[in-house]
Amino acid sequence: MGLDVAGAGLTSQRARDRLIAQLSQLGIRDPAVLEAVRAVPRHLFVEEALVHRAYENIALPIGYRQTVSQPYIVARMTEALLEYGPLRTVLEVGTGSGYQAAVLAQLCERVYSVERILALSRSARELLSRLKINNVSLRHGDGGEGWPARGPFDGILLTAAPRDIPHELLTQLAPGGRLVAPVEGPDGRQQLVRYTHTEEAYVRDLLDTVCFVPMLSGAES
Ligand code: SAH
Repeated sequence: MGLDVAGAGLTSQRARDRLIAQLSQLGIRDPAVLEAVRAVPRHLFVEEALVHRAYENIALPIGYRQTVSQPYIVARMTEALLEYGPLRTVLEVGTGSGYQAAVLAQLCERVYSVERILALSRSARELLSRLKINNVSLRHGDGGEGWPARGPFDGILLTAAPRDIPHELLTQLAPGGRLVAPVEGPDGRQQLVRYTHTEEAYVRDLLDTVCFVPMLSGAES
């Protein structure tokens, strides 16, 4: 998919190559995921003052006390979601800057993403449209409710951490589908978990320890 990367400049191209090499060293194996991360101009998704750090493997502020995850985590979650084959539709909870949605958009037919903070949802919409990423649908609301009218989804990705996976979301997972989410334990620590919707049950496997903003209920205008 051709992205408009005007303004990226040579420096960030080199910085991007370096980031991809780093992700690969850290264990990201799926070449399609690495390509997707390479294709998306992360510097356009972060606060202007931090553009020069956009291709470092660190989380960065995006306003409204929220952050875009470090690229390794974005890649890891994307890889975990796609591990057993490509997914047609994916629902993301927590659009934030729109960066993770843009990465998923390189790999899936259609991405649906819900954000509870109106201003973030609006600026993500503007940016994705500027980048001509046309296979992402955004909605302002409480992502804990999913997006029933568009489901069921082959994949669901949470980028904010709940204490428990909202049941509503599991019911919107298509048979064979996967849900990847950071879940906060009673000790406050977060664990990345993956649920696979098999014929008999939801099979859970544990991935990395992570650190996300909490998932909050209700929408903010
Ligand atoms: N995926 C984002 C990073 C998200 S930070 C990116 O690539 O930039 C987590 C986001 O989840 C925040 O924007 C926060 O407002 C949002 N969020 C938290 N709880 C939510 C909920 N219940 N529904 C929708 N969005 C939620």
